[in-house]
Amino acid sequence: MSDLAQFAIVGSGPSAFYAAENLVRSERACRIDMFERLPVPYGLVRYGVAPDHQKLKSVAAVFERIGAHDSIRWCGGVEIGRDLSIAELRDHYHAVIIACGTPTARTLDVPGETLEGVCASSAFVGWYNGHPDNRAAPLDLSAHSVAVFGHGNVAIDATRLLSKPASELAVSDVPNQVLERFRTSQVKCVHLIGRGAPDRAKFTAKELRELGELTDVKVSFPQGAEQLLEWLKTSAGNADLLPVWQTLTQQNKSAFHREIQIWFGLAADRFVGERRIEAVQLRAVDERYAREWHGATLDIGHAITCIGYRGASMLGIAFDEARGTIPNASGRVLDANRAHVPGLYVTGWIKRGPTGVIGTNRADSVETTTALLEDWPRITAATKSGASAIDPLLRQRGVRVFSFADWQRIDRAERERARAGAPREKLLSQDDVVEVLSGAAA
Ligand code: NAP
Repeated sequence: MSDLAQFAIVGSGPSAFYAAENLVRSERACRIDMFERLPVPYGLVRYGVAPDHQKLKSVAAVFERIGAHDSIRWCGGVEIGRDLSIAELRDHYHAVIIACGTPTARTLDVPGETLEGVCASSAFVGWYNGHPDNRAAPLDLSAHSVAVFGHGNVAIDATRLLSKPASELAVSDVPNQVLERFRTSQVKCVHLIGRGAPDRAKFTAKELRELGELTDVKVSFPQGAEQLLEWLKTSAGNADLLPVWQTLTQQNKSAFHREIQIWFGLAADRFVGERRIEAVQLRAVDERYAREWHGATLDIGHAITCIGYRGASMLGIAFDEARGTIPNASGRVLDANRAHVPGLYVTGWIKRGPTGVIGTNRADSVETTTALLEDWPRITAATKSGASAIDPLLRQRGVRVFSFADWQRIDRAERERARAGAPREKLLSQDDVVEVLSGAAA
């Protein structure tokens, strides 16, 4: 058995860092190379968690400490599938852990979904969080009414960001250009539309409650607040939500700047418009809540679909197309015949699907690394070269690799560039990152 086990982790979001932490905590001699496509780490924490939820983002401080560990080498700017293949990683590391998340937003697949003014959650969330892939604003926010589809926390995030006064977003880490767009937003009404019952919504109570606490924002129920209370009497679903719905129905604001209208039992049947979206035609999914709204049309100028995410398949790894995840048994990747693939593991959303909060990934990564540690004698029997084989390949291929020390410089630069009261001003592209690192814009 070789002395030092060589591990690769694909991705550098929460599940990747938790997996790395578990491996170094096991106190077995190992080196971990963590590969990230972007020039900066932290995945969902940096680009998924809403910018006005800075407390949630503060978990990055934990990852910062893990990333600085001597046995862990973070390699930014390296895309697996483009710069290195899975087969190469498997050749040169004892084990490979896939922790690349589920980046693709699910779509409704209804007519008109490609009209201007309709976008998926990935584009909207990526934009307001300064993701390099989403620099252009997907919506110009010139419309009075917006429909947000889905009753999950991503839909709540989108609704809250559209409804909050820009002055409150100024102290978050939304990039300047995003803040400017929110400042000039013409949005007055956000329709938050779910296909299910109130007690079956996927919201967490804290997030739903926050909607009722927004400054100058009224929450209303076009299907009737009394009706909602009636529905709740027979509720058998998420009990945590019941008191929050009750509080929201008691809101009695006469003066407000924006309104959030919450709808149940309805889905988009088609988006209507010539080039730009002008309306959405609704379909009653749950007859108990929405019969009289079947076929109704809402005039809207923007629509955002927040109906979950799916992973992308990777060459050389079996993929469950229906779930959008990598088939596995307790984190051990399975092949098409459902046999374990030696030395290949998976964790996070690409393993279990896009569910749970950031902390859920800790338990998920414990399960995966426990499987790996059980397999340790078998998978570490041969000698593997790790970085000493991979680095020459990356050099030959002309890949500009960003180090953790580079990220620490970027982090400092972003904090220094922040507008008053904001935690940071994110660099929005790889070119900006390179410029800062070269000293030109430090
Ligand atoms: P989610 O919680 O799964 O919610 C997805 C919503 O989309 C559900 O209401 C679902 O309805 C609906 N939906 C799915 N397919 C649909 C279709 N074809 N037509 C109409 N509606 C459809 O997903 P998410 O909001 O993307 O959140 C992903 C994960 O991140 C969740 O675990 C969430 O809690 C977490 N998250 C947490 C926070 C936070 O803690 N602050 C913030 C953001 C996200 P059904 O229920 O009927 O399927």
